[in-house]
Amino acid sequence: MTDPIADPWGERTPYAEGAKWPDRVDSNVVIQPERWVQSACVLCSNGCGVDIGVADGRIVGVRGRQVDRVNQGRLGPKGLYGWQANNADDRLRRPLVRRNGELVETDWDTAMNAVAGRARRLLGKRGPGSIGFYTTGQLFVEDYYTLAVLTRAGIGTPHVDGNTRLCTATAAAALKETFGCDGQPGTLADVDHADTIFHVGVNLAETQTVTWMRTLDRLHGPDRPRLIVVDPRETPAAREADVHLPIRSGTNVALLNAIIRELLQRDWVDGGWVDEHTVGLEGLEETVAPYTPEHAAEICAVPADDIRRAAELIGTAERLLSVVLQGVYQSNQATAAACQVNNINLLRGMIGRPGCGVLQMNGQPTSQNTRETGCDGDLSGFRNWQNPKHVEELAELWNVDPLTIPHWGPPTHAMQIFRYAEKGSIGFLWIVGTNPAVSLPDLGRIRSILAKEELFVVVSDAFMTETAELADVVFPSAIWGEKAGTFTNADRTVHFSEQAIEPPGEARADREIFVDFAKRLGLRDKDGDPLLKWRTPEEAYAAWQECSKGRPCNYSELSYDALRAGSGLPWGGERLYADGRFPTDADFAQDYGHDLMTGAAMSRMEFEALGANGRAILKPADYRPPLEEPDGDYPFFLTTGRVVYHFHTRTKTGRAPELEEAAPDVWVELSEADASRLGIEDGQLVRVESPRGAVEGPARVTGNREGVVFIPFHYGYWDDRDGHRRAANELTITAWDPVSKQPVFKTAAARVVVP
Ligand code: SF4
Repeated sequence: MTDPIADPWGERTPYAEGAKWPDRVDSNVVIQPERWVQSACVLCSNGCGVDIGVADGRIVGVRGRQVDRVNQGRLGPKGLYGWQANNADDRLRRPLVRRNGELVETDWDTAMNAVAGRARRLLGKRGPGSIGFYTTGQLFVEDYYTLAVLTRAGIGTPHVDGNTRLCTATAAAALKETFGCDGQPGTLADVDHADTIFHVGVNLAETQTVTWMRTLDRLHGPDRPRLIVVDPRETPAAREADVHLPIRSGTNVALLNAIIRELLQRDWVDGGWVDEHTVGLEGLEETVAPYTPEHAAEICAVPADDIRRAAELIGTAERLLSVVLQGVYQSNQATAAACQVNNINLLRGMIGRPGCGVLQMNGQPTSQNTRETGCDGDLSGFRNWQNPKHVEELAELWNVDPLTIPHWGPPTHAMQIFRYAEKGSIGFLWIVGTNPAVSLPDLGRIRSILAKEELFVVVSDAFMTETAELADVVFPSAIWGEKAGTFTNADRTVHFSEQAIEPPGEARADREIFVDFAKRLGLRDKDGDPLLKWRTPEEAYAAWQECSKGRPCNYSELSYDALRAGSGLPWGGERLYADGRFPTDADFAQDYGHDLMTGAAMSRMEFEALGANGRAILKPADYRPPLEEPDGDYPFFLTTGRVVYHFHTRTKTGRAPELEEAAPDVWVELSEADASRLGIEDGQLVRVESPRGAVEGPARVTGNREGVVFIPFHYGYWDDRDGHRRAANELTITAWDPVSKQPVFKTAAARVVVP
């Protein structure tokens, strides 16, 4: 095995189209394990199968699971080294409560009674709308489902969302708009079969490292697929591409409209399939008509001929795999752009077959489960809050009055939850496994909200994060390896993770914490029995299986034993929509859709008027410029993103010595032209300023697009107390996509100066 830090993608194992991706087992073991325990990696949404090595009650290493369909033994640097966070000395071991301004250790009873007491008083005085939960994409199904029932059926609050709002809300939204329901149509195995791969705003090499290995092995194999990359940065994929379109930030919709126009004009459309399986072609044709390659070239600032060439490669593909991530989701017109990628595959009739698919990728490892269980803006089991029958199903299942389950309007999205906390209508905010004091936009504002005297902040986490430091009560959580449970990756593969070791100190699984809280609040069903009727992971999972039965995300056949048998297993089978039927019947659909330009929700009547009834919906959108654009004072587009060695706010990867050493501090990427114009040398300290704050770091001169400045968003302050100079989100704007409500991290105006 090569050094995974120096060469994160390892040696090539080239293979031909349709052949099996060769196995390669990667491992990192520091002491010979006494036993191996089955699991999967939770440091990105790829969800690579992994065995955890255990000796003397501690994790001592990992090895990739050769039998697993996702990774066939491979692991990236985060997977190989990130497990060391479990053993970190600074894990939270006991609950903490704030006394005289300081967080001090206490026992579970005292901490839990303080939390339940505050929640009870607020519920009595101001009702469920005063209680909010902001959760994560890193728990297990068993934790999420417990939280969903607690909050929706017990407390009855609409204010529940996850940090999945920051990473996958647009994936969910675009899938619902086009196909009527969330759920990844394609599979990672489509990489094995595609003859053309279309990357839009996705830096797979750093975000889903192992799937990039798979892609590289195809690109370096006998039947090399064509690769088209849309990204203002010169990513590893851009360097491998046949066509790289380094478009101006925030212009995805204009580019995609031009590609769609070319497909239509040059008859690169599977007309018979489109007629039979979609609605909306006429509206799409009309909308894209003005987007000639020349017009899009003007907006996107890339050559018209490159747009034509990209369209030609897509138009002449026999098996097209489109892959989408944050460059779309966190950008201007996020859902509108993601839907245009869906439209491209639909026009080509390339969905549900080997090599033909859309991967609206996820960011976090278990964000799919946040969406499925209803810990984000949806109801459990991909149910539709606008459909009274779906609400009644849940009410019956949970044995509560349907009116307890908030469904009078869309559930509150994360940015609005923080707004309500700012204005004071939310007085209790429980933050689970996430670190908004580093990951939300405009951090100065977020810190001031979390520090408000009137806001009671509860944090459950494994570490003293920047957010936990501002809490009133902190619960120590057990994490991966310390509890049993299931989770689902970006291509719907469900993995079971055994408990390998005991949690440190008094840390508990989040599921247990929620059950204890519900008990202390006295939450009961209509018969007076406890609302949460489970204790163990098995019991929680069985309850979720029952809830998901009959819905697209049906877990009822995926028993723990089936998941223990070897590889992870996808719900819904290898690919969705192989029969060309889509869940767009109004009685079944998860959502009735939105106006992509304004975000206005459509009614059932408006949805039915589309006449989809089992067909996919081609939704068009005109281009609109970003909300904030560069000007004379702030002439750069700031974009933020991930790097291959870190995950989110480094709470785990920052505690793995190899990963930390590989990327210990923030940096600022600039194009060669900009660096030369400003007289900035590689490595020189620069300051990036926006109207909201400033970040300092050494310059890295890159091949990125001129006028773009990139800052990795991983760095906060838990290991750097030197003011607020290194979190990229000091600079980003409070703005979100009108449909998915995903915050915009890719288009803020900034300037670069030498301090
Ligand atoms: S690709 Fe993702 S899931 Fe796989 S090892 Fe790397 S971080 Fe873990």
